[in-house]
Amino acid sequence: MTAGIPGSAGVPEGCTQDTLSAIYNDTESVQKLFDTFPDEIAAVIVEPVGANMGVVPPQQGFLQDLRAICTKYGTVLIFDEVITGFRLAFGGAQEYFGVDADLITYGKIIGAGMPVGAYGGKKEIMEQVSPLGPVYQAGTLSGNPIAMAAGLAQLSILKNHPKIYRSLNEMGSWFFGEIKKIAEESQIPATVNICGSLGSLFFTNETVRNYETAKTSDTAKYADYFRYMINHGIYLAPAQFEAMFLSAAHTRKELEDVLEFVRDYML
Ligand SMILES: *Cc1c(COP(=O)(O)O)cnc(C)c1O
Repeated sequence: MTAGIPGSAGVPEGCTQDTLSAIYNDTESVQKLFDTFPDEIAAVIVEPVGANMGVVPPQQGFLQDLRAICTKYGTVLIFDEVITGFRLAFGGAQEYFGVDADLITYGKIIGAGMPVGAYGGKKEIMEQVSPLGPVYQAGTLSGNPIAMAAGLAQLSILKNHPKIYRSLNEMGSWFFGEIKKIAEESQIPATVNICGSLGSLFFTNETVRNYETAKTSDTAKYADYFRYMINHGIYLAPAQFEAMFLSAAHTRKELEDVLEFVRDYML
């Protein structure tokens, strides 16, 4: 997204021709693909909260619609919870929105800073993986002991301190809410999306609900804002289409300092 290219060099068309793209937050665009290929779609994969085109929360009912469509057509619903997993709630977006996926991918948070990726899901699917099933999946560093120990420590702390989620989400709603107020007051075209401890300030007047509308953002303006903030000691994500994340380590005082500079820039 940041580089503005839809694919990647080195990926043959034979691979991409098996992939269909639908529009985020647009159930109809998904249903249309199922109408065209009712028996051929193996899986639907989605970031339950878009966080790689800036933060784009699911609109009311969108994830439920995906669940219903996948159940109807016997298709596997995959949530990419690499960002939302153990962030929105201990049970990730599934718990936060009350929608169950069939498979879930994880990364980032589950390694507590160590390199980790993982997937999990329904027993009948996971039993397909070797040694129980015919799907062979392994890697030299799979289950690396240091990363597993770090991740286990991280997840144990989160499990034993469920209040972290309430305070993190409250902090997000306050902090990003303040940015939203500043954006509304500002003469600069800007819109703010918020989901728990995730937020984005988009430099556009459009409501950002999918990739198309995210793309209307003025990335040169974002770059200018980024430089202003970093010159004042605030290190934001270096691209318009990256998210802002709050951490349990952020204090209210630090966030108030950030808001001062956002105000100075925007007003
Ligand atoms: C970072 C990210 C990935 C990639 O995870 P890796 O562990 O680097 O493979 C996948 N999905 C989302 C939503 C991400 O943010």
